[in-house]
Amino acid sequence: RGGPKNLPIAEVLVDDDDCPENSRQKHKPKLVILGSGWGSVAILKTLNPEDYHVTVVSPVNYFLFTPMLPSATVGTLELRSLVEPIRLIVSRAKGHFLKAEAVDVELSEKLLEVAQTNAQGEECHFYLPYDKLVLGVGATTNPHGVKGLENCHFLKDIEDARLIRNKVMQNLEQACMPTTSDEERRRLLSFVVSGGGPTGVEFAAELFDMLNEDLGRSFPKILRNEISVHVIQSRGHILNTYDEALSKFAEARFAHDQVEVLTNSRVKEVQKDKILFSQKDENGETVTKELPMGFCLWSTGVAQTELCKRIANKIEVQTNKHALETDTHLRLNGAPLGSVYAIGDCSTVQNNVADHLVHFLRSMAWEKGKDPEKMEITFPEWRDVAQRVKKRFPQASDHLRRLDKLFEQYDKDQNGTLAFGELHELLLQIDSKLTSLPATAQRAHQQGQYLGRKLNKLAQAAPGMTANEVDYGDLDEAVYKAFEYHHLGSLAYIGNSAVFDFNGLSFSGGLMAVYLWRSVYFAQSVSLRTRILLAMDWSKRALFGRDMMN
Ligand code: FAD
Ligand code: MG
Ligand code: MG
Ligand code: MG
Ligand code: MG
Repeated sequence: RGGPKNLPIAEVLVDDDDCPENSRQKHKPKLVILGSGWGSVAILKTLNPEDYHVTVVSPVNYFLFTPMLPSATVGTLELRSLVEPIRLIVSRAKGHFLKAEAVDVELSEKLLEVAQTNAQGEECHFYLPYDKLVLGVGATTNPHGVKGLENCHFLKDIEDARLIRNKVMQNLEQACMPTTSDEERRRLLSFVVSGGGPTGVEFAAELFDMLNEDLGRSFPKILRNEISVHVIQSRGHILNTYDEALSKFAEARFAHDQVEVLTNSRVKEVQKDKILFSQKDENGETVTKELPMGFCLWSTGVAQTELCKRIANKIEVQTNKHALETDTHLRLNGAPLGSVYAIGDCSTVQNNVADHLVHFLRSMAWEKGKDPEKMEITFPEWRDVAQRVKKRFPQASDHLRRLDKLFEQYDKDQNGTLAFGELHELLLQIDSKLTSLPATAQRAHQQGQYLGRKLNKLAQAAPGMTANEVDYGDLDEAVYKAFEYHHLGSLAYIGNSAVFDFNGLSFSGGLMAVYLWRSVYFAQSVSLRTRILLAMDWSKRALFGRDMMN
């Protein structure tokens, strides 16, 4: 026992002497990885086995292929096809796995506090010592302080998808009861999605496809006319972090499919049978409305987990309310150097966007052979700058929608060009709005891969090191470059045709898009097992339609 809370310390794990390899690893530096999601799995797939004594701690013993989760809610894919046993992945990396939840970290003692429920059903805590700790715990759903969220469904985990599937089926069955009134039937068949981001939009599209393609075959035809799907979005557009063309395409698609999109609307309260929201009309006046509903999905962005909040509270320099801040080497700011890293949705990299932007401007002036301070930027040039900014910082797209408006607004002297100072101010304004990299699997995967490669280098740089001897200090900088995010395009699935955004090359609609979308995800998919399961699900659906049952 020991540490600040005098808990048992897990110096040895059950399988430390399982085989000669494990015995050899026992004295290697202890690498503890939290979470079994995109970030953590990417590390495990990159790490050289045997350089570290690796332990993965996660409350779930599977990896979830989240981009396909919306498809599982309506039976396009089977739930089982989207998960992969984490123990398989861990054992390939010659690591150890503990199905438990990390609850706290003692940063100076390098002890991780872990909670687990024992055979008697009691919660017990212990310390797991580490030399290096990686936080890859993801994020939780953001409640935005709205009342009545117990009446909503969420879509984060496999269990959520199961609950949604059951609820949708239950509503359809209830709608067929002779005792159900017409009004009640319409309510049961009113599906509301709160949040116009990719998850909400994909779910709405999947739901709509299912209702259109499979409902008529097994349910009374009359239901089709009474079904309604609504998307409530606080901003002016759905998919507002994507390219404007893509969000327009999605909106047009929904308009055609009669999926109602309520923009500039904020949910006030969710009751058992209706949802209350306020909507800004064209004159900027706010009116309160209500919508009867039989099902509500809450998908309005992410918030910090309890563990991350606790860690942020312990460290003075961690002041960001949304995520843990790291330096460009992904080291947690304020923790002993080289001992704690944070990746994926739980983290954000402090990247001086403003510096990059000024650099952009200077190189642009240089290309034109002009003095940057005296440069006057015309509208086409400004469009070019904006394009480059969007490419480098995709999360800026939302702030660069109305290029003409911005130009007008910052052209203070109204001479039709932006002076260097005017442009600089504009970019600074955008910089202040950019807080983080996008919360995507793509980013988590890149960060995990980066960290895996760096950990391999570190092991080479300090060979033969054993646990407790290691003081990495600022070795990170010496052995490996800083993390750089590469935006590979965002994908959203809109009603049987994908919306595709690849490095500014927008591409949307049609069957081609569907295949493109599927092949991209096949390639990203982690194992042959998953690939085969998904292919079987798709073929089954193509041949027989979706299973309309719980
Ligand atoms: P996660 O993958 O969320 O993993 C976090 C892990 O930490 C989990 O295993 C969790 O159980 C574990 N954990 C939590 N708390 C603790 C604790 N205290 N101790 C130990 N372990 C803990 N991104 C895309 O790029 N493209 C998409 O199409 C896309 N679609 C999505 C659809 C849905 C429905 C959802 C929910 C997300 C989607 N995303 C998509 C986002 C993507 O899933 C996330 O950005 C990604 O999962 C982040 O990876 P991560 O490793 O940070 O966290
Ligand atoms: Mg993870
Ligand atoms: Mg996951
Ligand atoms: Mg703090
Ligand atoms: Mg001017």
